[in-house]
Amino acid sequence: MIDIHCHILPGVDDGAKSLAESIEMAKHAVEDGIKTIIATPHHKNSKYENPKTQIIDKVNDLNKALVKEGIDLKILHGQETRIYGEILEDLEIGDILTLVESKYLFIELPSGHVPRYTERLFFDIQMKGLIPIIVHPERNQELIERPDVLYNLVEKGALSQVTASSLSGYFGKKIKNFSHQLIEANLTHFIASDAHNVQNRSFKMSEAFNIVENKFGTDMVYLFKENVELLIGDNNVYKEAPERVRKKRLFKIF
Ligand code: FE
Repeated sequence: MIDIHCHILPGVDDGAKSLAESIEMAKHAVEDGIKTIIATPHHKNSKYENPKTQIIDKVNDLNKALVKEGIDLKILHGQETRIYGEILEDLEIGDILTLVESKYLFIELPSGHVPRYTERLFFDIQMKGLIPIIVHPERNQELIERPDVLYNLVEKGALSQVTASSLSGYFGKKIKNFSHQLIEANLTHFIASDAHNVQNRSFKMSEAFNIVENKFGTDMVYLFKENVELLIGDNNVYKEAPERVRKKRLFKIF
């Protein structure tokens, strides 16, 4: 398995605090069936600044440490960029890192709302030939209340990534139900761990794929697994026509 969202780099954000913790996370990842991880440190998320060059250096260091430890896990470089108005300017000056330097760019929204300029910024990002991927839309309060906002962004070319542990209910029932609805409505294209540690924010990838297989079938498992391979190869990913999350169902679940 490939995990495209993980805070495994030591001492750069609210993920692993030390190399020892990174190694511990790596062991848990391998146990969960993961062979490749894209390290995605927070960037410009209130406290954290992780520009491109620093991330690349730290990924190289971690890969060397994993070889030394005999752990069969490969780390690739990425970044989780918090949405802000100057993303494109910072891309030009080389601070922003797309996932493995592909055309796919992780964008983190604030947890409570979707900024008004999001649609315009996503348009501009796409005009530069990049594709924004909204990380964990199922944990955004505005998107939970107004899923049409996500539908609109996906309809206009954005992609999204749900968190593995949301699907199994680690973030509560409301987020679990919404994450399932996003799969059902073709509003999400990737599943990733967003692991921060081995205690309360671990990988849970195989558990998530078991849930997807039981509820949505093997084709859906194949789509999600294939999409991460396509992303890493900088190819176009599978994207079914998005549908609106049906309000009636939403009310029933709440
Ligand atoms: Fe994250």
